[in-house]
Amino acid sequence: MAKTLCVVCNGEMKGLEAMKEEECCLCHKKFMARMTCSEEHYVCDRCQVEACSKVYKDICMNTKSDNAYEIGKMMFDAPCTRMHGPEHHLLVGFALLTAYKNAGGDIDLEKALAVHKERNEFVPAAFCGKNGSCGAAVSTGAAYSIITDSNILCKETWGESQLITAECLTRAGEIGGPRCCKRDGTLSIITGTKIINKKMGTDIKLPTEKIVCEYMKKNPNCIGKRCPFSPSNKDAKETSEGIKIFC
Ligand SMILES: [Zn+2]
Ligand SMILES: [Zn+2]
Repeated sequence: MAKTLCVVCNGEMKGLEAMKEEECCLCHKKFMARMTCSEEHYVCDRCQVEACSKVYKDICMNTKSDNAYEIGKMMFDAPCTRMHGPEHHLLVGFALLTAYKNAGGDIDLEKALAVHKERNEFVPAAFCGKNGSCGAAVSTGAAYSIITDSNILCKETWGESQLITAECLTRAGEIGGPRCCKRDGTLSIITGTKIINKKMGTDIKLPTEKIVCEYMKKNPNCIGKRCPFSPSNKDAKETSEGIKIFC
């Protein structure tokens, strides 16, 4: 299981026993911290996402994979990615945009990633719990609107962008909480891929075998058997065939 490493010194990140006020060592603003590294560096969510965005862009610009989950997993496993955090809001859309490009989709990937990153700045940490909208789902809607060059005045693509987000939220919501950025990110990647393929005529790939979570031990809020990616959940088939889409 990949360790989360500090974006300042590469030391291992550790959860604090209780949240406490710390100054971000990059922007010097104070926040309630839940993790520091072995050298006691604390990096706020915003600075963490900024650091992750550089790593993710590098992964996306250098992979030839057209498998959206495979690309997403490379970012899940990047040392800067925490078990949970708003970096997942960025990586879901990045995975979809990159897979779309590598499956023959007509986008300028570098520009698309930059636009997605800018939009993602409006989706902070804990968005799911506070606003009833998982950031991974919102990230999928953003990726779709970028792919289709949609805006507030469009007819079809405006509607489809809402529907893709809604489908991702339904998949996450029907399972229930607590949130898991890996579970909800994976559900959004699968759902988003299927809808993009259907609407855009692409053949973005997904794993054909059941996806089995590798992050359970890192997640104190893991829902165990209720998670479709739990190895003990034998019924779930969250693969390219397992999730039905309605829009
Ligand atoms: Zn450090
Ligand atoms: Zn900061």
